[in-house]
Amino acid sequence: MSLEQSFRDRTFVVDDPDARIRSDDDLMAFVAIPGGGFKKIAKGTSVRVLDVRLEEAGSKKRIVFGRAAAADGGDVLGWTSTRNLAGSFMNETIGLVPPEPGATRFGPNAAWDNGAFLEQLDLVAIVDSNLEIERLAMKTIAPFAALVAAAKDDGVRITLNSGFRSYPEQKLLHDGFVRGLPGFNTAAKPGFSKHQNGIAFDLSVAGGDGNPTYEWLKRHATSFGFVRTVSKEPWHWEFDEAKAQAARAGGAFRTPNVRD
Ligand SMILES: [Zn+2]
Repeated sequence: MSLEQSFRDRTFVVDDPDARIRSDDDLMAFVAIPGGGFKKIAKGTSVRVLDVRLEEAGSKKRIVFGRAAAADGGDVLGWTSTRNLAGSFMNETIGLVPPEPGATRFGPNAAWDNGAFLEQLDLVAIVDSNLEIERLAMKTIAPFAALVAAAKDDGVRITLNSGFRSYPEQKLLHDGFVRGLPGFNTAAKPGFSKHQNGIAFDLSVAGGDGNPTYEWLKRHATSFGFVRTVSKEPWHWEFDEAKAQAARAGGAFRTPNVRD
């Protein structure tokens, strides 16, 4: 099992009838068929993904493309959007993002807690619930994968909305919140968010109570070291084995400070 590139261990099924193949040289261009139409991978084809590339599409969105090969025989079929695959590549890890030499405490891998710089983290790029890229601390990848797999065995899908944030990313969110800009929610001051120290996960649990994913997390997350830690934020879970164990021992799924 490759923690850094989980897609390498998996077989995917094309479930889009219009899974077009992209040009090797320009992933934004489709490969045309002489006489009309575009080259496609047939719906229902089982594929392995040999490699991935990201392309910018609009301001912040990035599309994950995969170089697909037939699962039986191994013939290379070509590059296609991973949105065309059943399960759509959610939760697949696509590569290690190590700290750059000389990076500062404001760099992309710098972890902070309680207003102070902690350390430079090894991060892993992972596909989120919007099929965009988040980063998680390498040390949390195995427990998160275990959580996701156990839920899947129970027919429940766990996906990520937000993972690790750098200082500049948290500053952007906090500034937007302070200025009351549309689309910005409550956000901690830069240096103070648990999303900056590599243990926080915002999961898709729309509506909270009654949401199947949330109900599953309430019953099982502490067994995997995850615990709810913030009032009024049912989506915010942290990987903290000591706090999770303490909650579990008391028959709870959240830390004592959490009111609702
Ligand atoms: Zn959060």
